Amino acid sequence: MLLEVENLSISFRRYENKAQQILLPVVCNLSFSLDYGQIMSVVGASGSGKTILLQAILGILPQEAIVQGNIIFQGQTLTPKQQRQLCGKKIAYIPQSVQFLDPLMRIEHQVCQGKRDTTNKKRQEQIFSFLGLPPATGRLFPHQISGGMARKVLIACALMSNADLYLVDEPTPGLEESIVQDFLQTCRAIADQGKSILLISHDIGSILPFSDKVAFFYAGSILEIANQADFTANGQNLRHPFSKALYQALPQNNFTPIPGHAPYSGKLPNGCPFAPRCPKFDDCCQQEPPFLDWRNGKVACFHAT
Ligand code: SF4
Repeated sequence: MLLEVENLSISFRRYENKAQQILLPVVCNLSFSLDYGQIMSVVGASGSGKTILLQAILGILPQEAIVQGNIIFQGQTLTPKQQRQLCGKKIAYIPQSVQFLDPLMRIEHQVCQGKRDTTNKKRQEQIFSFLGLPPATGRLFPHQISGGMARKVLIACALMSNADLYLVDEPTPGLEESIVQDFLQTCRAIADQGKSILLISHDIGSILPFSDKVAFFYAGSILEIANQADFTANGQNLRHPFSKALYQALPQNNFTPIPGHAPYSGKLPNGCPFAPRCPKFDDCCQQEPPFLDWRNGKVACFHAT
């Protein structure tokens, strides 16, 4: 297994009411694993804690974060020091915004991180060829290339590390459909070479055809991990009421909105976090449902189907 996350919880220290310190839970008891050659997409609304998960794996959480649980990479439980050593080498980050590119530096220098020796140059050329970027792109500056090419340059920067795990943050917002498809096809091609990708997105419709597994994130918890084969017709093969409702809310399905709102992380309900919106709620849902193996996937629900 490439990556295992065990019982990961993250809280932030906050001050309220005349300097009274409180702990704000933003990620609650996450457990999942990712194998070589797999893409796992983590879907959920903005603010549900998805990006915090990426930051925890990279070891770049702010100082006030309190982290519990284990992140195991290639069989080794990571310490902050190991995370610093692996970041940018074995674990690479592909950011959401093309503003991560330096506007004053030629593309080739950014991709090679200033090391334009023969080996790096050759590798950059191979990566450009793999991504379908014309060789002349390297001599250009970021403002001289299209949005789709800029996305590919971000991927090229990450691929230069030859990492085993790529963490991709929200690749779809504000992009034309053709660019999104091109980007996700590239992610699939990277995974098909044996690399692994953890992809954060709120755009389930776009990422689904390229994902091996989909984790449904809600109010800091994973409520279900489904396989691609589970997404049939109206989603009846999904396990959790939230996953089914989210799938049926897609425009290409029933376009049925989910009533209510996700809770603020400081005001989570007792027991199941989805309880206030769940049509299947009953008394037992006032306890926290365990996250269990179920029909070749995982689910946290007392009435999973
Ligand atoms: S545990 Fe209960 S409230 Fe939560 S999703 Fe399942 S049925 Fe609904």
